[in-house]
Amino acid sequence: MQRCLAALTPPLAHPHEIQHEHRDGNPAAFRWSVLLNSGLSGLQLAIGIGFGSLALIGDALHNLGDVAGLLLGWGAEQLSARPASKQFTYGFGRSTQLAAMANAALILMASAVVIVEGLQRLAKPVEVTAGPVAVAAFIGILVNLGSARLFGHNHGHDLNKKAAVFHLLTDAAVSAAVLVSALLVQFTGIHWLDPFTGILVGLAVAWTGWKLLRQSVVVALDGVPPGINMEAVETTLASLPGVVNVHHIHVWGMSTSQTALTAHLLRNPQAVNDMELIHQAKQALAELGIAHSTLQLENLP
Ligand SMILES: [Zn+2]
Ligand SMILES: [Zn+2]
Repeated sequence: MQRCLAALTPPLAHPHEIQHEHRDGNPAAFRWSVLLNSGLSGLQLAIGIGFGSLALIGDALHNLGDVAGLLLGWGAEQLSARPASKQFTYGFGRSTQLAAMANAALILMASAVVIVEGLQRLAKPVEVTAGPVAVAAFIGILVNLGSARLFGHNHGHDLNKKAAVFHLLTDAAVSAAVLVSALLVQFTGIHWLDPFTGILVGLAVAWTGWKLLRQSVVVALDGVPPGINMEAVETTLASLPGVVNVHHIHVWGMSTSQTALTAHLLRNPQAVNDMELIHQAKQALAELGIAHSTLQLENLP
């Protein structure tokens, strides 16, 4: 039925398609978060293991996952800044998604370890020395609130930064839960409270890992990126002057910030100038968040 006759891309369209990712990457904040979080997880892990607190070990593994996430994200960002090559014609934008997937796997494994260990300790409680555990949890609160301040100072409007600050505040809340549980163990002598809190922490960690995994799988399967309204894309293309039918629409993410589209437009060549049509289509698509589009024009049968 459909004959694909002409593949036209106006030569002028490309220069404005080049998107620059404006990550002003605050290197000082980054270095401090890695340093503080590594130190914190090391301390929490040592005290958690030494004084029998699974809740603290869970908190430590979570913070370790954050360090892994920061480092993986940093490496991927370096990679995605490299220009496209003859072999990797899309560039390396998707390396951030590979990093997210690797981090999700790490987080899920860590949470599984904590949950399984928690169930075992519920059955056979381990003696917890609450004092040092409470101190380490308190340091966790301080470090995360401090990091939140560090990030919160610049770019309050940036969504990514907002998410980072929210994450740090959640982390502070997790440490607070560990602190409360340590104090409760101290005053009530109920030792299963600690593995119970540990399991809750493990579940919270598993939830973040699951969300991360789902997002990266959408990208791996060339899913439509969040924030793109497919119905709007279809109706916009179909309602362009001279267009009779739109088919073979594909939308996917080339990186976290660049969205690409290919589509076939069946148009009446008498009703519309091709260059004009492509120009209009690209402009309309850019307004819908798609800056990298490739369109194929086809004649009425
Ligand atoms: Zn076609
Ligand atoms: Zn965290």
